[in-house]
Amino acid sequence: MTTPTTCAQAGCGTTFGLDEDRRCRNHSERHRAAAQEARAKGGAVTGGRALKIRTVPLDQVPPLTSMDDAVSASAWVFRMAASGGLDPSSAREANRAITTFVHSTDKADLLKRLKTLEQKVRAYETQTTTGDRAQPR
Ligand SMILES: [Zn+2]
Repeated sequence: MTTPTTCAQAGCGTTFGLDEDRRCRNHSERHRAAAQEARAKGGAVTGGRALKIRTVPLDQVPPLTSMDDAVSASAWVFRMAASGGLDPSSAREANRAITTFVHSTDKADLLKRLKTLEQKVRAYETQTTTGDRAQPR
């Protein structure tokens, strides 16, 4: 396994959101003014709290449109969580979303099968009431 690139600032272990100077948002010269301004406002996620939140850009998140996707997305979340690429809360929420997707897909599939069965039962009932049953097949 390869060791992830960390922030160039001594003692900083941040592996995500590194700028072109290989520094995290807290240590990058380019973001210093914005970070200080955000800290002054008090609402932005900076410092220790920012280090606890580890997410990935949307284009790096695997697709989730089929049951096969759910299997590979689960494996991806496991790898990301185990390697520290996702923080525990984000990994938990991602897993929850995958579970919700699997359950809703399952229910949609069951509903489709149920409707097909209901149509077959209705067709069978129509046949038996009109006497079609007596005809040889
Ligand atoms: Zn840093």
